[in-house]
Amino acid sequence: MSSFARCASVAVVLCMIASASAQEAPSSQPPLWSSKPDVTAFEKLENDRLAAAQRSIDEITAVTGARTIQNTLVPYDEAIRQINAATYFASLMLEVHPDAAFRDRATDMTRKASAVQTALSLNRDVYHALSSLDLSSVDAVTRYYMQRQLLEFRLSGVDKDDATRARLKKLNDQLVDEQSMFDRNISDGQKSVEVKDVSELDGLPQDYIDRHKPGADGKIHITTDYPEILPALKFSKSDDLRRRLYEAFLTRAYPKNHDVLQQMLQTRYEIATLLGYASWADYNAADKMMVKGGNIADFIQQVDTASRPLVQREFAILLAEKQKTDPQAKQVGDYEVSYLSELVRRSQYNFDSQSVRPYLPYAQVKQGILDTAAKLFQVSFRQEQNVPAWDPSVETWDTIDNGKVIGRFYLDMHPRPGKFSHAEMAPVLDGVLGKQMPEAILICNFPAPTATDPGLMEYGDVVTFFHEFGHLMHHILGGQQQWAGISGISMEGDFVEAPSQMLEEWMRSPQVLATFAHNYKTGEPIPADLVARMNRASAFGRGNWVAAQTSYTAISYDVYKTKPQDVDPDAVCQQDAKRYTPFTPLPGTHMYASFGHLGGYSSAYYTYLWDKVIAEDFFMQFDHNNLLAGPAPMRYRHVVLEPGGSMSANDLVKNFLGRPQNMTAFQHWMEEEFVPAPETPKAGQ
Ligand SMILES: [Zn+2]
Repeated sequence: MSSFARCASVAVVLCMIASASAQEAPSSQPPLWSSKPDVTAFEKLENDRLAAAQRSIDEITAVTGARTIQNTLVPYDEAIRQINAATYFASLMLEVHPDAAFRDRATDMTRKASAVQTALSLNRDVYHALSSLDLSSVDAVTRYYMQRQLLEFRLSGVDKDDATRARLKKLNDQLVDEQSMFDRNISDGQKSVEVKDVSELDGLPQDYIDRHKPGADGKIHITTDYPEILPALKFSKSDDLRRRLYEAFLTRAYPKNHDVLQQMLQTRYEIATLLGYASWADYNAADKMMVKGGNIADFIQQVDTASRPLVQREFAILLAEKQKTDPQAKQVGDYEVSYLSELVRRSQYNFDSQSVRPYLPYAQVKQGILDTAAKLFQVSFRQEQNVPAWDPSVETWDTIDNGKVIGRFYLDMHPRPGKFSHAEMAPVLDGVLGKQMPEAILICNFPAPTATDPGLMEYGDVVTFFHEFGHLMHHILGGQQQWAGISGISMEGDFVEAPSQMLEEWMRSPQVLATFAHNYKTGEPIPADLVARMNRASAFGRGNWVAAQTSYTAISYDVYKTKPQDVDPDAVCQQDAKRYTPFTPLPGTHMYASFGHLGGYSSAYYTYLWDKVIAEDFFMQFDHNNLLAGPAPMRYRHVVLEPGGSMSANDLVKNFLGRPQNMTAFQHWMEEEFVPAPETPKAGQ
């Protein structure tokens, strides 16, 4: 379930570097808000950006003489920069603003910005202007940018007749509404389960029990928010409580999102077929590494074949664990996987995931991740004080490279009612050299430290934090570009989960952990043998994780690979769960209704597994005895992250690996629990 969510001594040295750089590195760009946020200022800022975009578009169409990069591509890229900024900010306010009325206005604004974007992508005059540019003497990056843009124009139907273009515009506007409705139904769809008796909390950590005292009605409630539900599914000894919670979790946004999904499938199918593609899955793959829908089906089969023996082996272990208390059991329910896996980790790997939490208080983890990234990518971070934001807990940070501020990010890390309920990195501004610094935000839902509670994190939370930070570094280091349209993570959408998934591996390094995972009471660093046991235990279950991901990938492809009238999402979910995982799906649930990625990723959920294959291949190039050492980190920064979207992702992969990615490293990673990891290759191999 959560798997589709997807996230001292060193500190002293880095602080010194940061403060030394601080004097020569003033942050020139004003932050998001210059005063306390209000809706009028928000709407003015947004409208100004969209108006500026329109002026740039008018400049392009007003040209009468010869077309040049200066009079055509420069204003075009400026329009992209303004529209993106407006879109990013509106989506951000929609996800984080504490006031529901503000979120409604932000929803309207996302619609408005998207309409401007759609109109531009269907603007024939702009398309003709760009396609008539002489590219014979431009640099390779500009040429690549133009090729990508012209492809995107054709994918939006700019070369179709007037009636078709008008219809496409209507469909795209409609799709934005459907998508934001789908997301809002999920974030507003929190459910709460009543605990029948306090004994149902047996097995849960004491701090969790302490946070769940009976309310005014004398009852204890657990909500479907991650920090509440995940520990209960993992630790509660009550089978009945876990089953009730899982059922509540997988019926969020149902039945509301049943109809919204059907409309979304219909709208997307019509867009794809109007543009000459057989399905949305084919259309959506055309500008990605994957190129066509059929390749997704092939990839699903390859992963299924590669993982099946391991999946069976892990299933047998979980079933044997269940049979200790239920000797007749022949099946394992999907809602039991987290709980049984935890029992196996304790009994067979002598690892209790509770035992690492005292080493992972939120504030220390945050500093540890900043320090690790600083060392790895040879940058430093400095917090900006007194920056106004939508919530007092939001922090603002600068990224400094060689004494120069090269980017800014915001951290909004703890749950609030009405806030986006997963973990994600979102761009806030695209970086354009000499014009605009890249900015980004992490929106997460980690436990908040309080006066009496340091906000102890789960191992999985910290992995998520590393993951999202990987996206953040990609957006900032890749955000030093000549053009906004290829800056940071503006690239093939099915590459962007590779840098984030690769950074997750740093969480497994004993040296890295020892720098920040210190017991919050005693200050003692996490013992190396505990890390070793944790790593062995966390390697258990990779087959099941891959199986779950394969089933989500198949759901995302299967609902979009054909005509919507042939799709019954309940049947697809049940069938793909049965086909790709060994677990019995809980009857009466409607997982797709809260599977938010069916909106944003649509048919491209395969991205996670596809990029996991790439991430493990990348990771194999680092020195596994010291992940921060050797030439690999800076080579990775220069060859993979810094280009952003200035060349094709297939080329980035080849440039770093010396060949296209393959399944070998991924397969080693999956089987690490049973087979020792291979030797790290020597430098240059
Ligand atoms: Zn991600």
